[in-house]
Amino acid sequence: MTEQQTALLEVTNLTVDYDSTRALTSLDLSLQQGQLLCLLGPSGCGKSTLLRAIAGFQDVAAGRIVLAGQLLSGAGINLAPEHRQIGMVFQDIALFPHLTVRANIAFGLHQWSADDAQRRVEYLLSMVGLAGFGERYPHELSGGQQQRVALARAIAPKCNLLLLDEPFSGLDAALREALVPEVAALLKREGITAILVSHDQKEAFAFADQIAVMHHGEIEQLSSAYEIYHKPASRFVADFVGEGDFIAGQVVDSHQITCILGNISNGKLDFETGCKVDVFVRPDDILHDDGSPIKGHIVSKRFRGTHFLYRIELASGEQVACFTDSHHDHDIGEDIGIKLNMEHLLAFRS
Ligand code: ADP
Repeated sequence: MTEQQTALLEVTNLTVDYDSTRALTSLDLSLQQGQLLCLLGPSGCGKSTLLRAIAGFQDVAAGRIVLAGQLLSGAGINLAPEHRQIGMVFQDIALFPHLTVRANIAFGLHQWSADDAQRRVEYLLSMVGLAGFGERYPHELSGGQQQRVALARAIAPKCNLLLLDEPFSGLDAALREALVPEVAALLKREGITAILVSHDQKEAFAFADQIAVMHHGEIEQLSSAYEIYHKPASRFVADFVGEGDFIAGQVVDSHQITCILGNISNGKLDFETGCKVDVFVRPDDILHDDGSPIKGHIVSKRFRGTHFLYRIELASGEQVACFTDSHHDHDIGEDIGIKLNMEHLLAFRS
């Protein structure tokens, strides 16, 4: 087996219980060296539990966690968090307020020689864009700067894996939008393997190579952001990631589905002819076209700057959403022509 194929982190058959609540069920996950993974899912789906189990703060009922070839949890082993060589960054930044930025970053380096620790801290300060800020105290930094110090502190001892538990969610939206890709680029440059927990798909898309969409303590899909969005493996993933609506359809033949918006053909279908399906339609699959024979009734509209998002009721009573550019300013109650422009047909058995 080549080095490329050997996973850095291998989670196998992991089950975690809180008394009578099962939080994770036979979960499998593997992560290659240098990959950035996001655990994405709604509140309560088990993201933090998985992170805490990997970090060693959570006992496991069954299964194994192996990092860099070492068994951390399972088969009677439960290595203490401080021996796992895993760094963590939390939502509440929790820098030591009485220590300078430099001392905060050096906190985990007490076993290093003074010279090596100093070199490491200076390197990390410049890596996170805070060279010259070493003598400041945490309260003299902005929220984004504090979070970058927390990141530098977590990776200072050269961990095998970095775990990020919603570290950006306390920051305002504009700062988050700038910081997330910046941190991802920084981790990539350093070759650091990391897992981010998030319930925000935009954050997941901006951060991760791979996204694991979680639901009820299981991973429903693990793939790239593109695959998650355009080829969701389940009804839940389609609905959770991005906007869209299900409308009733029926399979015409091995390549075609018919629905109120017309016939959709798109590659080979995995359904038998006549089968009833729900077609998942995203707002960007629907084009506003005055010449279209298919009309819909505008029931709501939202201005989003560059475009409007209209909710449109069809003759069947089903609703779909439609983006138009913001010059197409129609009123609620108006009928407008729409047509389907679907590149990726998504349909699930009814
Ligand atoms: P997420 O991070 O995705 O919001 P969690 O991992 O925190 O989800 O929770 C997963 C499930 O475990 C939820 O049903 C939650 O209520 C339950 N849970 C989490 N922590 C505890 C706890 N300390 N005691 C009992 N149940 C818990």
